[in-house]
Amino acid sequence: MSFEVSSLCDSIDKMMQKHLPVEEVRRRDAAGEPPDHLLEVFADMGLFRLVMSEKEGGLGGSWEQLSIIQERIGYHATMAALLFNRVTCFGMMTLITSGSPTQKQAWIPKLLAGKGAFALALSEAEAGSDAGALQTRAVKSGKNWKITGRKIWISGAKAALQMVVAARTDSKSRGGKGVTLFLVSPNAKGISMTPLEKIGNRCSLSYDIGFDEVVVSDEARLGVIGEGFDCLKKTLFYARSGLASAVVGTAQAAVDAALVHARERKQFGQSIGRFQVLAHRLAHMQTDVDLARLLTRELAKSIDAGKDCTRLSAQAKLVTTETLKKITEQGMQIMASAGYAVESDMQRYWRDARLYTFGEGSSEILLDLIAQDIGVGRGI
Ligand SMILES: Cc1cc2nc3c(=O)[nH]c(=O)nc-3n(C[C@H](O)[C@H](O)[C@H](O)COP(=O)(O)OP(=O)(O)OC[C@H]3O[C@@H](n4cnc5c(N)ncnc54)[C@H](O)[C@@H]3O)c2cc1C
Repeated sequence: MSFEVSSLCDSIDKMMQKHLPVEEVRRRDAAGEPPDHLLEVFADMGLFRLVMSEKEGGLGGSWEQLSIIQERIGYHATMAALLFNRVTCFGMMTLITSGSPTQKQAWIPKLLAGKGAFALALSEAEAGSDAGALQTRAVKSGKNWKITGRKIWISGAKAALQMVVAARTDSKSRGGKGVTLFLVSPNAKGISMTPLEKIGNRCSLSYDIGFDEVVVSDEARLGVIGEGFDCLKKTLFYARSGLASAVVGTAQAAVDAALVHARERKQFGQSIGRFQVLAHRLAHMQTDVDLARLLTRELAKSIDAGKDCTRLSAQAKLVTTETLKKITEQGMQIMASAGYAVESDMQRYWRDARLYTFGEGSSEILLDLIAQDIGVGRGI
């Protein structure tokens, strides 16, 4: 596959039109059917190998190229770009940054071959934004650990190759300290899963998961005991780059759909796009997407340069997700009844967009992080 930007995008367009055409996106959204078949397609194109070094059997590409790919996939289907992120970030980057040689050997080849994705099991009923309030515990039992507790809203858990589960290993600890990550099979004994109904992101199935003394070996532990939040911080840093890129793609798709409608729909004897109020609104929407894209690329370039991206990754996630929320709201207004119909793609963008300003770190928490980085606020 060529690494040149326009041919990279052409290859993604052809692949998505063949394997997940828009009619299929609509059908799967209505049925709540994840596009898991794409994993092998992505793998065959070498997309998962892109950012691995040539020495490790990768293609030696960059995060900037990956960002372009994720944006393009997100343009066709957010559901596909999020699935992609669960392989590259929740899976590969978690293993690369925190995994043992044995864990890398066991799971990276399967991820690269498109055999499945990973899920991140962090949130609990009483621990959403305040992730450090988690109560799921892992207790040492001989050479093994027993995990007991409950996680909620865990996406892609049932079909995952492995779940990355955050559990408290120091019962006296509070907050992020004393939490450890474990790799847990969704089929392990003692796990129960209940699917959750939701209004958007219907192809990324989310579960309420019970852990009843689930036994895992010490080899399933990721990283150092009690330092799980440091490992998670690294994973989230990459995951936010992937999510921001996907969201820019969806935002561009929403602008394009609104543009087509504004040119075609006639009222008062002319295209509604000729009314200056709508033309200017569309001009603002495109400018907002272009700005969000610039910030996302800047984040990817900073990752490539090995810089600390704590602030930039929070800013990119904040700006892209708030932009998508605003744009889909405006797109719905421009399309009016045509956007409100179930067969419209705009209503799907609008429903999906509602998740991203709070999932994987809400806008308020991201602003706290940015404030902390510039030396104000109470810190988190
Ligand atoms: C569809 C879906 C998929 C998800 N997938 C996953 C997954 O795969 N893995 C996973 O672990 N989790 C997942 N989640 C959970 C998600 O990450 C949480 O919803 C998110 O962290 C917010 O937590 P909460 O919903 O409990 O909101 P709360 O934490 O209760 O927040 C409610 C409101 O209060 C605000 N708030 C909270 N604290 C502060 C503060 N200190 N300052 C200012 N405002 C504050 C928030 O910003 C928000 O607006 C998913 C959720 C959904 C809905």
